[in-house]
Amino acid sequence: RELPGDPSQAPGTRQVEDAAWSMVMPTPVSRPELLAWSPEVAEAIGFTPRDVLDPDFAEVFAGNALLPGMQAYAANYGGHQFGHWAGQLGDGRAIALGEAVGRDGGRHELQLKGAGPTPYSRGADGRAVLRSSLREFVCSEAMHHLGVPTTRALSLVATGDSVVRDMFYDGRAAPEPGAIVCRVAPSFIRFGSFELPYVRGDIHLLRRLTDFTIARDFPHLPPGPDRYADWFAEVCTRTATLMAEWMRVGFVHGVMNTDNMSILGLTIDYGPYGWIEPFDPDWTPNTTDAGGRRYRFGWQPRIAHWNLGQLAQALSPLFDEVVPLQAGLDGYAQTFTTADRAAQARKLGLERLYDDDVELLQELLVLLHDGEADMTLFYRALGERDPAAAPDAVLFGTFYGDDAEARIGPALAQWLARYAVRVGRDPLDAAQRRETMRRANPRYVPRNWLLQEAIDAATAGDLAPLHALQAVFRHPYDDQPGREAYARKRPDWAANRAGCSML
Ligand code: AMP
Ligand code: MG
Ligand code: MG
Repeated sequence: RELPGDPSQAPGTRQVEDAAWSMVMPTPVSRPELLAWSPEVAEAIGFTPRDVLDPDFAEVFAGNALLPGMQAYAANYGGHQFGHWAGQLGDGRAIALGEAVGRDGGRHELQLKGAGPTPYSRGADGRAVLRSSLREFVCSEAMHHLGVPTTRALSLVATGDSVVRDMFYDGRAAPEPGAIVCRVAPSFIRFGSFELPYVRGDIHLLRRLTDFTIARDFPHLPPGPDRYADWFAEVCTRTATLMAEWMRVGFVHGVMNTDNMSILGLTIDYGPYGWIEPFDPDWTPNTTDAGGRRYRFGWQPRIAHWNLGQLAQALSPLFDEVVPLQAGLDGYAQTFTTADRAAQARKLGLERLYDDDVELLQELLVLLHDGEADMTLFYRALGERDPAAAPDAVLFGTFYGDDAEARIGPALAQWLARYAVRVGRDPLDAAQRRETMRRANPRYVPRNWLLQEAIDAATAGDLAPLHALQAVFRHPYDDQPGREAYARKRPDWAANRAGCSML
């Protein structure tokens, strides 16, 4: 067990050239307290419950101490933010502790988010508030259980120190409790990790980083002259699959800057994310993106493509011709279309979605939007009813407002009649259709207001709601008797509350 460095020795913000990372120690906090942890992640890494509940665990995962073999560092990267090159960004408040090899041989990089300043903090404090840390902890684990590729979370530790942050939704800046999440992933390398050396003309570093990434994270790729092309193609297809999954479950990332795009195709950096409640492809949880709405739900697949275009540009010095890069981007479009169609077919309980079915789907989406259906509740209810039956109170109850029947009753009845005919022609029988829909349409998602209730309680010292959320989201596709309250429409009090602040 080593002691961390003196906080007064914290390194200053600087441009870091000719390096992909900087050694930096976490800055100690006053009173580490373990608020929550993930048993599945702990076990994968090799921690027993007894290890986790030992007070030393909270010390390590608050950044107050290192375990033998840990070497702390912050990564250097750049990125396009809201479509504009933003220069060097880097881990401004994330500090990696190193990599653990799990019992299964899997690699788990452990990264503290909110562990104090780094050379990349750009004048900010390097800290995170309980509110945003709890949101990342709960949602990243929920995403895993939803079957969506994501970084994981090992622990949520309160620091005992307060942090001042803007509350975007009411414009106040008040001290809030600080907390640190330990995020876990095989790699936290981002598109922006490659963009920075490219923009600086550091082709040597670009090549080394690429070779390192392929060797460590893509070892299945065959050696040979097509290695870089194969790798880029795989990054494109992984990203495409991820986008289809976000669209399936109704997740809106909110800040799809290239520094927030994982090279492994994982959901990374849970900031002002949100979940679609009233169905609206134009909705974004990002209150700072209100004008451009670049990061709205329905645009995510297009933005991912744009981001891959930036990555292609960054990698271009490693290629003799543009053809393989273009092929990778084309592969993105193909894979996304295929994966999205497959996911949307499953949501409707169809074996597959034929060209003729696309119109049926489009019409439903217009109905859901016009009628303000709760996306999660509507699809779940659709899968639980006889498709030939006329719309009933249960189905209308998944729409916001009391007048859904008057507003969209006839249109919905018409659509259901066509859907029933289509279902009747499908090779899946009724039981298969129900099961397919149950597995494609979650019952429970981490709605903003559910998280807010857990945040308010945790801030007041009551961790039970946080732990209850963890339990609910461990089985998001199962009906959980007694937990109906977690599968409800957004209450009125939460309607105008945006996601949390970005920082
Ligand atoms: P994000 O929008 O969360 O991806 O953050 C963009 C950049 O700002 C990243 O380089 C972060 O590391 C950095 N950043 C965000 N919050 C803080 C903070 N409180 N202190 C230092 N850096 C931060
Ligand atoms: Mg980020
Ligand atoms: Mg963030």
